[in-house]
Amino acid sequence: MCGKKTQTEGYTAICNYKQTNFKLVRRAGQRNLRLRVDSQGEVVVSAPYEVSFFCIKEFVEKNADWIEKQKSKAVQRTWTTGQTLLLNGITVILHISAGKTCVFQNGNVLYVTVRNPEKAQAVRKAVCVYYCNEILAFAEKRVPYWCGLLGIEVPEILTGHARTRWGVCNIRDRKITFSAMTACLDDSLKDLVVFHEVCHLLCRGHQDDFHNLMQTYMPDVKEREKRLRIFNRSGATENLF
Ligand SMILES: [Zn+2]
Repeated sequence: MCGKKTQTEGYTAICNYKQTNFKLVRRAGQRNLRLRVDSQGEVVVSAPYEVSFFCIKEFVEKNADWIEKQKSKAVQRTWTTGQTLLLNGITVILHISAGKTCVFQNGNVLYVTVRNPEKAQAVRKAVCVYYCNEILAFAEKRVPYWCGLLGIEVPEILTGHARTRWGVCNIRDRKITFSAMTACLDDSLKDLVVFHEVCHLLCRGHQDDFHNLMQTYMPDVKEREKRLRIFNRSGATENLF
């Protein structure tokens, strides 16, 4: 069987006495069943080809409460005027209007102009691009600063849409990618994420040498990491992009 083969189909399960539609993605090479609710509230199950449909349905039904919780979170983001978001550590209110695509922040208001403001996806996309540019501008200042201190060459800086991690460092290709959601953080936490990834250029894992390096150049690293953990648990970035 081809290792890259995937197959997607729509199905229905009964969760808490309610019909729940879900998308099933069959992936060759995958080992376990995985479940997620995307930012639109769609339930997606990915499964190896070998797992029977009966098992998959049972798996979805067993996770009914979790699915419901995730769905209610997903629908909270309406991408309409008045909705709040976190940006650079502060809460901003969305103001959406129709016109040529443009996003700018003025105080605690994020003005978003898109051609089709009634389309949540269009608003979300415009905001995501803005967040990418924000974190890129920050990283383009701070990555060279930290690299200078460590005496290493500045890597390529990229942005992406990862939802489960702030940044990732590709040591071999010397590329650091920051998630758009990193733009939610205040500058001191953004800098923690930036420095964390820069340190990976010298230390691959999270062993003592890595922590010692961070501690040496960022004496309050523990306090920042604690704040980032609290932020993670707050769910502020869930279903953002
Ligand atoms: Zn790391």
